[in-house]
Amino acid sequence: MINRDEKIFIVRCGESALKGDNKSYFERMLVQRIKKFLKPYEGTAVERNDGLIFVRTGTDVPDEDVLKRVGRVFGVDSISPALEVVIEDMDAEQAIDETGRAAAEYAMGLIEKRGIKTFKIDARRADKSFPIESPMIARRMGAYVLKGCKVLKVDVHEPDATIFVNIRRGRAYVYEGKVRGFGGLPLGTNGKGLVLLSGGIDSPVAAFMMSHRGMYIDAVHFHSFPYTSERAHEKVKELASILAGYCGRIRMHSINLLPIQEQIVQNCPEEETTILVRRFMMKIAERVAREEESMMLITGESLGQVASQTAEALVVTDQAVSMPVMRPLIAMDKVDIMDMAREIGTYDVSIQPYEDCCTVFLPRHPVTKPRLERILASESKLDCEALIEAALAEQEIEIIYQKDLQ
Ligand code: ATP
Ligand code: MG
Repeated sequence: MINRDEKIFIVRCGESALKGDNKSYFERMLVQRIKKFLKPYEGTAVERNDGLIFVRTGTDVPDEDVLKRVGRVFGVDSISPALEVVIEDMDAEQAIDETGRAAAEYAMGLIEKRGIKTFKIDARRADKSFPIESPMIARRMGAYVLKGCKVLKVDVHEPDATIFVNIRRGRAYVYEGKVRGFGGLPLGTNGKGLVLLSGGIDSPVAAFMMSHRGMYIDAVHFHSFPYTSERAHEKVKELASILAGYCGRIRMHSINLLPIQEQIVQNCPEEETTILVRRFMMKIAERVAREEESMMLITGESLGQVASQTAEALVVTDQAVSMPVMRPLIAMDKVDIMDMAREIGTYDVSIQPYEDCCTVFLPRHPVTKPRLERILASESKLDCEALIEAALAEQEIEIIYQKDLQ
């Protein structure tokens, strides 16, 4: 009997299924995350069953909504809307008959929706106690579809549709394609990191990539108010809220860097301004991370992209802190980073032209191969500790929630 009381979605968990002893932990985390994303849809059930996750919703919930929401849960590899056939208490022949008729009905739907002319069956028997083997199940299903849909022909090489049939204990499932998720690992399985979030294209992508591997994210943003505007601040908040749609709410620390920038400009060589500012950013971020129990810093730096991201500059920046600095974009080209920003939905906000604190006091000829001794000598002219303390004392903290999923 076909289950017509609810909609069924089969969710595959990809890599998290490979984690040996941790498998059930990962799957439980994933179920929790999926439940959270589907919270607006009352009466939705999410359950694990033998390596797969089944989502059940009311029949009034649009497929696209479920696919969109579940598709952005990290750890989800793919999702398939499926027809469920209840075959409990049936013998094998009855089960084949019920499932075969469901497959024919499903194929009829594909003719109506997409005008398919050819198909093939891909059958699997997850319940090994079921007495009919997969190739035979496939042949029998094919016969039901051909009988039920006279316009269809079998094409095993280039079918318009591949219809999957999966016989499990007590239930059989008929479905077609898979909608791909982002993969990765469930949020919360890999600690917490602090992203240095500018208003640019790169840093939101970097935060996404780390979160995609299961890491919770907090953010620190530096501004140079009043040289940078309130609108520039709103832009960064908007980026954070898009990110929160993937990685949950974000605690965002906003810190005014202007007093530090002024001290640097007054006391240090002009060409070192950028690298000195960057080291201050790292040091302040490290303090914030320790307070917030973040384990790592995350930046959107990419090798050689600008003067402050040459190999030499990155080494000097790195040595400002003892905490590990993750740079997931380090070997990526800008065009690929931009593609990814479009895919995750941050690009259009990132390209809005608002001023950034790095563009205030930009040196005309920044050093591209800074030497650590020189930079340390310049820093020794400043009371770094007092400047950092003062900046931290004035910080603002906001909790940023996810933007409504459109
Ligand atoms: P993005 O597109 O992320 O702004 P970018 O190419 O403009 O990157 P930089 O401005 O040199 O590069 O910044 C490199 C990294 O330093 C950023 O990816 C970000 O992690 C951090 N960063 C830069 N400016 C800020 C800022 N105002 N607040 C917080 N972090 C910043
Ligand atoms: Mg930037």
